[in-house]
Amino acid sequence: MKDSHISSKNRSTGIVQLIGIPSDENSSYLKGCALGPPKIREALHCGAANLYSELGIDIGDESALRDLGDLEIESGQAGFDQIETHITERLQEGGPILSLGGDHAVTYPIIRGFSRYYPELTILQFDAHSDTYEDFEGNPLSHASPFARIMEEKLASRLIQVGIRTLTDHIRVQNTRYGIEVIEAQHFLPDLELNLSGPLYISFDLDVLEPGLAPGVSHYEPGGLTVRNLIDMIHRIQAPVVGADIVEYNPTRDVSDLTAMVAAKLLKELAAKMINSPL
Ligand code: MN
Ligand code: MN
Repeated sequence: MKDSHISSKNRSTGIVQLIGIPSDENSSYLKGCALGPPKIREALHCGAANLYSELGIDIGDESALRDLGDLEIESGQAGFDQIETHITERLQEGGPILSLGGDHAVTYPIIRGFSRYYPELTILQFDAHSDTYEDFEGNPLSHASPFARIMEEKLASRLIQVGIRTLTDHIRVQNTRYGIEVIEAQHFLPDLELNLSGPLYISFDLDVLEPGLAPGVSHYEPGGLTVRNLIDMIHRIQAPVVGADIVEYNPTRDVSDLTAMVAAKLLKELAAKMINSPL
């Protein structure tokens, strides 16, 4: 599939396409992420905040963000094929794509779609976990494994992980094998310079954050980043951002919809950065 790259003349219409991917069947520990996309939309439009990004762009404007609703996902491989096909079709129509998970397993079929258009994709992953298990409890499509699949299929030319704080011997071997650049939380600096070049895809696993700041996730891993850290990193990116996802929001674990608001905030800043991207 990788050798049939498709070119799209109107790839960049400037309008960000928002897609919900409500799937949690590959979550290893808790279910609940499938309930995420509507709750994030609710937070975005809840009236407690306006729809302006700090970058000065109104995400509520129809020329900025187009919400395409949620996919109806089948289970198993059929569901993955569906996600890949849908992403491919959306890319053909143009515009950057912002996806809302769902658990992190959905990033693998999303990137399969992106790789058809962007053979030299750089991925910036924010996460407490590398998600590069060869398989997790026998499931190679687990949310603990998407970046192993992405790298073994060479769907990205560079993968940088930020905020990692759960490395095991197996994961270290995997990350070295795939040439992944890992910036552990213990070495993170707020003014971190990544020298990114595009096209860039950003994958946000909300568990990269300190759990007290974003309790609506399945896996609590204390010692994380702040919301301000993430927003500042988004704002400093100079490379063209062609796609992004916000995954692992689990409403069943949230407190007062706090994490939904955090996800909505990241959505606004990511969308604005995509619109501002020099494509
Ligand atoms: Mn994670
Ligand atoms: Mn993850």
